[in-house]
Amino acid sequence: MTVFGPDVLTDRYQRPLQDLRISVTDRCNFRCTYCMPLDHYDWIAKSQILSYEEIRRLVAIFAQLGVSKVRITGGEPLLRRDLPDLVAMLSGIEGIQDLCLTTNGSLLADKAASLREAGLNRVTVSIDSLNPQTFARMAQRGNLESVLEGVAAAGRAGLSPIKVNAVLERGVNDHEIAELLAYARSHGYEMRFIEFMDVGNVNGWSSSKLVDKDEILRRVAAVHPFRRPTSARGSAPSERYTFLDGQGSFGVIASVTEPFCGACTRIRLTADGRLVTCLFSTGGHDIKSLLRSGASDEDLRRTIAEVWSGRSDRYSEERLVAISSAEGYHPDSVRKIEMISLGG
Ligand code: SAM
Ligand code: SF4
Ligand code: SF4
Repeated sequence: MTVFGPDVLTDRYQRPLQDLRISVTDRCNFRCTYCMPLDHYDWIAKSQILSYEEIRRLVAIFAQLGVSKVRITGGEPLLRRDLPDLVAMLSGIEGIQDLCLTTNGSLLADKAASLREAGLNRVTVSIDSLNPQTFARMAQRGNLESVLEGVAAAGRAGLSPIKVNAVLERGVNDHEIAELLAYARSHGYEMRFIEFMDVGNVNGWSSSKLVDKDEILRRVAAVHPFRRPTSARGSAPSERYTFLDGQGSFGVIASVTEPFCGACTRIRLTADGRLVTCLFSTGGHDIKSLLRSGASDEDLRRTIAEVWSGRSDRYSEERLVAISSAEGYHPDSVRKIEMISLGG
């Protein structure tokens, strides 16, 4: 184990382990074109999905190793039955200071209050378009109205701050930057624009579909002047800008054009119990088998620590170098884990 200061677990580039993203299911009721456009997947068998008690046990160990922030995600996490029960189990773990959820929002209206009651701090909802037709084209299932109702319910339940994620795809929804901002600003939400990434293998990514950070900032500046961040963003993937009129802020997640691997403190736990140290990993480390074979907490702690201390991922930085090289970048040259198993 690499130790950086007292009891701080770091990887090969001295990055501490701080954030955990837990995918609680690989199922989703949407089929977003940039995430999981296909109808057929080899879904994880029920018996292979971690139980809430197994997740709780692992999170307690992660907390001892330095994790203070946990994000529950999926697939669509709200498809997992009794999710508030998991939230209640995790919110009581010593050391977990921030417990949040990323959701497509379609099932949030009925669940926001119980999630808040169980101890959820905040929520991020993905909304790529406010136009019902464009929304339907991108999500392929579900409807915009239920999502907007879900976000409103989250606000009423006291989940705060509410962040809204939009993946921008050229020629599909990038003309909606101003509308999305107006919606978020008027409700006090933080809008976050995400560069379309080549996660997984099936989303048809190409650099021509990318709307990059510079262009996003130019388009926002044309409608709402903003101040550039004055301090470093730390390990957060989003760079945050404050509107000059005092009406909140927005963020840009520029993982393609401005990679932030150097400050990446995130590990992922898949629904079938694999530890994944990078969004672009080709495989994961099976922790479930150990968990189900009667391993002690100390065995699990040692294994997680070994995985993290051996980590040397910096895929997005390597991709940027490849994009500008003579050979170019070929997203299909490696078989990456799909986003639905990783949860972002
Ligand atoms: N189903 C939930 C949702 O959509 O919010 C949680 C899981 S989803 C995989 C997590 C986040 O990943 C969403 O905000 C989604 O927009 C983002 N995402 C998925 N595919 C992406 C891609 N190719 N590029 C950038 N972001 C992506
Ligand atoms: Fe489902 Fe979220 Fe992926 Fe869309 S982005 S298909 S809602 S997991
Ligand atoms: Fe972290 Fe991998 Fe993304 Fe780099 S590419 S920021 S290492 S998840």
